Order: sequence, then structure tokens, then C-alpha cells
Amino acid sequence: MPATINVKTGSRIDMVDITSLVSGEVSKTGVIDGICVVYVPHTTAGVTINEGADPSVCTDIIRKLNELVPPNDRYRHMEGNSDSHIKTSLIGSSVTVIVENGRLVLGTWQKIFFCEFDGPRSRKVYVKAA
Ligand code: ZN
Repeated sequence: MPATINVKTGSRIDMVDITSLVSGEVSKTGVIDGICVVYVPHTTAGVTINEGADPSVCTDIIRKLNELVPPNDRYRHMEGNSDSHIKTSLIGSSVTVIVENGRLVLGTWQKIFFCEFDGPRSRKVYVKAA
């Protein structure tokens, strides 16, 4: 089984920086040079890499996603969370990061964000490094 990170989200839509948690799991594997896959096993939450220095970037991403995919529209899905499913597909369910010298190779401003689209909830993220 892959390593599991548990994430508690605080609102219906939320972006949570999980970079240090992912790094920690990669360290535990002992992988020095390889690839790390970060995978979210949910249909209303995803994962993305983007700027972590200015929190306004996440605020802007969330605002724009809500404009593009409003919570209420002529959706058919009976559960009432179609916008959450659509946002998840737009963002994606996994990211791949290169591991070098036991560390994630990320750009200066890059962070890995868990993206909640139907919270608040307790969620899981799988991490596999090889
Ligand atoms: Zn649903």
C-alpha cells in the first residue's frame, strides 16, 4: 500500500498546502533518486501544484473555479455536488514530482496543494515514491 496522508479541510472549497507532509513521506521511503506520485482517491477533491508564496493565488484560483463552475446550475446528479465533481476533473487527481537526493524537486515558488471541493471533510492522500 502507498503511504497515506490524512487531511482535514476547513470549508466547502479549500486548498491545503501538503508539501511538507509529502516530503516527510518521501523521506520515510528512503528513495534517493526517483519519482513521487501524489494521488487523491476521492471524486470531489484533487491535487495541484501552484504558487505557495502569495496566498492570494489560491484565493484567485478558488474564485475563478466558482465562476467557471457555479455550485448551482442545471445539473442532473442527484447528490447536489456536481460542481465539486467537475472542479475535481478540471484540477486532476494526481501530480508527479521528481525526487533527487531524497528531496522533491519543486520550483522556488511551487507547493503541492490538496484541493477540497465538497468539504469540510476528512480526506486521504496517497503518496508513492519509487
Ligand atoms: Zn456526487
